[in-house]
Amino acid sequence: MKLLNAILLFVIFLTSQVAFSQSSPGIISEVPDTNSVGPEGDDELDPINVISTTNEYFKIIKDNNFDVPAADQYFFWDTLDIHPYQSKMNKYTESKVLNLIDNNSLFAMPLKKPINSVFGWRKWKYHYGIDLGLNTGDSIVSAFDGMVRVVRKSKSYGNVVVVRHNNGLETLYAHLSKALVTANQEIKAGELIALGGNTGHSTGPHLHFEIRYLGGPINPSEVIDFNNCTLVSDTLLIDRCRFEYLDDVQKARYYVVRKGDSLGRIAQRNGTTISRLCKLNGITRKTTLRIGRRLRYT
Ligand SMILES: [Zn+2]
Repeated sequence: MKLLNAILLFVIFLTSQVAFSQSSPGIISEVPDTNSVGPEGDDELDPINVISTTNEYFKIIKDNNFDVPAADQYFFWDTLDIHPYQSKMNKYTESKVLNLIDNNSLFAMPLKKPINSVFGWRKWKYHYGIDLGLNTGDSIVSAFDGMVRVVRKSKSYGNVVVVRHNNGLETLYAHLSKALVTANQEIKAGELIALGGNTGHSTGPHLHFEIRYLGGPINPSEVIDFNNCTLVSDTLLIDRCRFEYLDDVQKARYYVVRKGDSLGRIAQRNGTTISRLCKLNGITRKTTLRIGRRLRYT
């Protein structure tokens, strides 16, 4: 009977610990879920370096003097985590029109250089931004007015700057040689924020540029006409359709190549064909399959 009581007490103790950790401020489950998505499985996300800064969130919502852009849309302001928003914009139920410019705030081209890689599937991974070629040291300016949210170094993005704009859009500038701004700094469109470079997972000097809303990546070419260095339109419709591609991204499945595998065997095992595997992964029938390589099969 004593043993039974002891077990019962221990169970009550464990339950109370769980209850405490769920209600304790400062853990991530307390943060309201917004409608966004991080680049799951993308090289340009660095999961090791994602740090929860929930305490920052608690600090800032209590500080009425600290005014962050689009505070009503985001609930929190995180100066360390590049992608803190966890929900999925392809499930977004609202429809809203954002003003990109007005009498007081303008647009500036972050870097006037040609595109060398577009937004979309890049072999087996999704590329959530656009790449513009540059020479190391070229000036990078903020596209719109706003406040710098993140300045940090990430394994994949290299030196990276994230800016929150007043309409709720966020822009991200990666692979920089040097950031010239600090978090919480207010900036204007066209203001110098960094020098371009080749840091992080990058095979040559370029700017990796992203536009996101509530964490959901938007094709920058739907916002900016990169050939003419102008906006496509002065407004931007935000609805589920803009993020429909995420349905495909979330459906993608990967197989890790093992010793003795062949394309035929992998295709058969995963209910697909060799030609589909080649198409999905940007490879040919002759490509050598390195053990441990991830192959997308659907
Ligand atoms: Zn890129």
